[in-house]
Amino acid sequence: MKKKSGIEVDTKAPAVAANIRGDPSGGLAQRVFAARVRLLYSGIGLTASSNLICAAVIAVIHRNLVEGVVVLGWLAFMAASIVLRVWLVGRFKTVAPVDSAMRDWARRYLLGALWTGVGWGIAGMMLLPVAPPPHQIVTTAVLGGLAAAAATTLTRHYPVYLAFTFPTLIPVPIHFALVGGETGYGMAVLSVLFLVFLLHAGRKHSDSLEQSLSLSVQNQGLVDHLTEEKARAEQLNAELRREMVEREAVSRRLREREAILANAQRIAGLASWQWDSKTNEVNYSDEGYRMFGLDNNKPASYHVAMERIPEEDRARIEEKIQHAFETGEPCSIEHRLLHPELGERIILETAQVARDDDGKISGLVGTANDITEQHRMLREMEDARQLAEDGSRAKSQFLANMSHEFRTPLNAIIGYSEILKEDTVAAGQTDSLADLDRIDAAGRHLLALVNEVLDLSKIEAGRMELFIEPFDVAELVRDVVSTVGPLAAENGTELAVECSPDAGEMSADTTKVRQILYNLLSNAAKFTEQGRIAVEVRWLKEPGAEIHEGWILFIVTDNGIGIEPGRIDAVFRAFDQLDPSTTRKYGGTGLGLAISRHYCEIMGGAISADSRPGEGSVFTVRLPARVSPPDGADR
Ligand code: ADP
Repeated sequence: MKKKSGIEVDTKAPAVAANIRGDPSGGLAQRVFAARVRLLYSGIGLTASSNLICAAVIAVIHRNLVEGVVVLGWLAFMAASIVLRVWLVGRFKTVAPVDSAMRDWARRYLLGALWTGVGWGIAGMMLLPVAPPPHQIVTTAVLGGLAAAAATTLTRHYPVYLAFTFPTLIPVPIHFALVGGETGYGMAVLSVLFLVFLLHAGRKHSDSLEQSLSLSVQNQGLVDHLTEEKARAEQLNAELRREMVEREAVSRRLREREAILANAQRIAGLASWQWDSKTNEVNYSDEGYRMFGLDNNKPASYHVAMERIPEEDRARIEEKIQHAFETGEPCSIEHRLLHPELGERIILETAQVARDDDGKISGLVGTANDITEQHRMLREMEDARQLAEDGSRAKSQFLANMSHEFRTPLNAIIGYSEILKEDTVAAGQTDSLADLDRIDAAGRHLLALVNEVLDLSKIEAGRMELFIEPFDVAELVRDVVSTVGPLAAENGTELAVECSPDAGEMSADTTKVRQILYNLLSNAAKFTEQGRIAVEVRWLKEPGAEIHEGWILFIVTDNGIGIEPGRIDAVFRAFDQLDPSTTRKYGGTGLGLAISRHYCEIMGGAISADSRPGEGSVFTVRLPARVSPPDGADR
């Protein structure tokens, strides 16, 4: 026995195994029968040669007793039967028939064996009556020997054995019975007994072959089954190994992600946690243990975490938790934490309720963010803002005081220069009139500047007040145009008004609207030479709204020097003039538009500009027709 694929295999049995393997889809009986037939066809050499030799010997010893032609004819008959059987075996091996075709092949073999058997029977019937006793003994012995020898091979299919043995031996008892006498009858009885014995032994041999083949077939079935099972087990094993490799890869990726998450939490100072309200256990991420200064080898609990929090903050936290449990809403809270090494920290916790499989609240899940640094920075920024506000307030206060202090002497200078001008005219001293004019103009310019600085400081200090009142728009425009008109005329510029006399009323701070318009028109007059200025008033109202209820637009257009597009925003910033040469040439403070913008904004409107250098500018003021008084109250 040797091992093959883990199964015990009989090394002497490959031929048997080959014989019985056949078609496994057939039933047991069919497979056993097929195995028998394959065994039948497994070899013919010995049979053929022994039959041929015996036939030749019989022919030779009887050559003088029977006609030569008859003997030769018989020999040819025998030779033909043997050649046919050898050819049949050769065909069988070539065709290698399937189990279901075995019946036909068994029949063919049976016919071949019958042919040979009949040949031997003819020999018996033909030779025994004419031969002397010694020849009779030889012939009887040859026939008996052949029949006995055939028992080993032809009993593989019992009918074949019958087909050969019966015709071979039957002439012997018949001959001796016909001879008669004591010896004849004795031989007849003995040869019948011999025939019966052979047939019986052949039957036994055939039965035991049946049993052993049946066992072999079953055994082979088992072996095939086991081989299949083994192949299946090996396949399963391979799948299992592949799955294990995949799982290992997945768990490696999981570990990597966990490491990334832990790093991200550490860098962001953000921890995550889960609290089971039934067991009171808190499960922190690594960063959580580090943040709370806890030992991550020991299970953390709600009480252990609470011990790290100052008592004054605990009540607030418990209140928040209670509220979250009652409402199911998320909660967040900032509290202090007494870290054993880092001291007091500020933590922002954000949490939401966790629920069990039945949907009942089972605790909280949340994040903890160490915001100590942000807190410190916020505090510093708040201090800086406070400082800046204090500084700005002090500056505004100072400016307001200084402006006030400036205005008294300036008014005196302007007043006295006017008196002096009148006195000078009255005294006829006209040569000093030009100098007095300059003093007067300089004083007025300084006063305007002081007034604008005062306005701006009031605006910045948030102390600019609004005095809302209704006024006639056309009248206000007329007023401003008449003030600016001489300035435009000086530059040879035409000033056109596109505002119908019944433009109607608006409700706003008149002084501020007047000042805005004045700033825009005086700028246009200042920066336009030999050109044209237009002021247009336009109402914008929502469809279906009452007249004068929407917005009012004041559009001032000129074709003066214009502004670079990238600098338009800058002209609305305080003290921003386009370039020093402009200041030198046109004068001004750089505050007019900044103040106008603030005025528009505090009245709920806006100002914008569109301009092209060398082509001119358009300034548009957009104001509510009814400006709402601050805090909803008229002042
Ligand atoms: P200023 O007292 O200098 O006129 P403003 O705030 O009124 O101050 O204007 C700021 C700057 O905007 C001016 O110095 C000027 O350069 C530019 N500017 C304003 N209006 C016009 C205009 N209509 N045409 C060209 N430039 C203008």
